[in-house]
Amino acid sequence: MSKFILALDASQLALYQTCPLQWYYKYKENLSLTTAHTKDAADKGTLMHFLLDNYYTLRAQDPVGNKLQQADVAIQKFTTEATILTLFSDTQETRELEAFLCKRFFLYVQRYMSDDFNVEIKNNVLPVELGFSKLLYEDTYVKFIVEGRIDLISSIHTQGLYCWIDHKTQSKNYTLYNYIPQFKTYAWATGYSYGIINYIGLQEDKDSSLLKRGFLFKRNLIHFSTDMIQAWERTMLNIFFAIYRKLTITDAPEEVFSVVRNDSACAGAFNYNPCQYTYICEEFNTEMKQRIKEFKYTVHEPWTPWRPEK
Ligand code: SF4
Repeated sequence: MSKFILALDASQLALYQTCPLQWYYKYKENLSLTTAHTKDAADKGTLMHFLLDNYYTLRAQDPVGNKLQQADVAIQKFTTEATILTLFSDTQETRELEAFLCKRFFLYVQRYMSDDFNVEIKNNVLPVELGFSKLLYEDTYVKFIVEGRIDLISSIHTQGLYCWIDHKTQSKNYTLYNYIPQFKTYAWATGYSYGIINYIGLQEDKDSSLLKRGFLFKRNLIHFSTDMIQAWERTMLNIFFAIYRKLTITDAPEEVFSVVRNDSACAGAFNYNPCQYTYICEEFNTEMKQRIKEFKYTVHEPWTPWRPEK
């Protein structure tokens, strides 16, 4: 008998905790609303990540190089390759957005000119956009793997410590809860007790008041105790087993997941932006449900946070 292999990343673990049925539609059936609006804020964040990844790659390759020149090279690559056009159509507005992102990125580099992260290539591994697949549990029947991708690994030289870094772009001055599943998963996967959330504001800041008040760029150091990491490991294991049982107990797993649907999550944070699966969740006729799936939803490639290079 072949083993049942299940690989989940932090976004899947979090979504299962929110609503198991939502996890099933999104990550098992790989459905998304065909008419779903594009997520501008997420796209802007992705673009800023491109700039940061290029910059920290250059920094790791040449740690004593001139930071402003490295920033300039990252911007040149971003603009000459027209990275922005991979996510937005070619309009005047898009070109203005490109200029805005480059300017904000340059401001970021200037802000941390003298106290930026230490990045270095260690054992031939670039500490940027690091994919991981770590074994959580294995027995005769199952193999459970936790996957993910970490934006940056940095060393805190004075204390001889390493920590992971997650870049978060934001359009408002919010601060994330420190112990979301994503961060606990990173702490578990790396074994590092520290992580840093690297906030990069994308708000308009015409008079530089946000910059001056420290609202545009800020960094939040988080500590993870051993107890917390162990507790998260147990939670992850429970989720893996719960999904495994639901997927294998019958030939109709959708019905099994429906039993544990979480109605409290349907509206999301606000009523105007409900869960994209309400159309099928509220339809109890199996044949009709299948038609709605075909009519309203698109089946995507299965999600994975990273793929090994071929
Ligand atoms: S509509 Fe509600 S019950 Fe259905 S998947 Fe979404 S959150 Fe879960």
